[in-house]
Amino acid sequence: CGIIGIVSGESVVDRLVDGLRRMEYRGYDSSGVCTLDDTGDGTRMIRRRAQGKLGNLVEVLAQEPAPGTIGIAHTRWATHGAPTAANAHPHAGKAAALVHNGIIENFRSLRDELQADGYSVESETDSEVVALLVSREVERGASPEDAMRTVLPRLRGAFALAILFPDHPDRIIGARLGSPLVLGYGEGEMFVGSDALALAPLTQRITYLEEGDWTVVTREGAQIFDSEGNEVTRDIVASGASA
Ligand code: GLU
Repeated sequence: CGIIGIVSGESVVDRLVDGLRRMEYRGYDSSGVCTLDDTGDGTRMIRRRAQGKLGNLVEVLAQEPAPGTIGIAHTRWATHGAPTAANAHPHAGKAAALVHNGIIENFRSLRDELQADGYSVESETDSEVVALLVSREVERGASPEDAMRTVLPRLRGAFALAILFPDHPDRIIGARLGSPLVLGYGEGEMFVGSDALALAPLTQRITYLEEGDWTVVTREGAQIFDSEGNEVTRDIVASGASA
């Protein structure tokens, strides 16, 4: 199970898949990627997922490419819902797509709430409700940041998250509680990942997010907030992980 995200000025999909390969040692049962593609008259959200080995995702991508200069990717170790393509991440609503490592313990009550509000849940995972909750806030007019301020305090359990917003194609929002997430600093591009090793070929300049932190990541850098919503600074360190 692993997460990687890249916000760049260049194509990201090959580097996302490469990052997933570097996390294969952690174990996984399925994988997936989501990119945002600027079509000239709007942003297209492209989602590709596959059961089983990463090679299966690579085959899907050969048939149906995922262009775009911003994207997130995931290897899944299923906790809720069988290891199928439909349960593979990223999960998405209209206004947000998300990858999640960990467990959302209160997902049943959140799912009931969303269904009562007219949202259809497509997977058996605990993760999809987080995508739908964040999407709902943005659909209602909230900024991605305000959506996080509303949704994060409602989640019980453990999570590392990376989230894309088709209406805000300049940013990835990351968050962590109980599962690791690191930030990586590049030249005109930025990265998030489960560990420094996943990012090692991309950058050695790393920030380890602390428990409860969440972050807004653009090509230029990152803003980091603690669980109270206060902006904080975290050290940038040399990862020492070798490419
Ligand atoms: N609990 C989530 C699921 O079953 C995420 C599992 C993971 O950490 O990969 O889909």
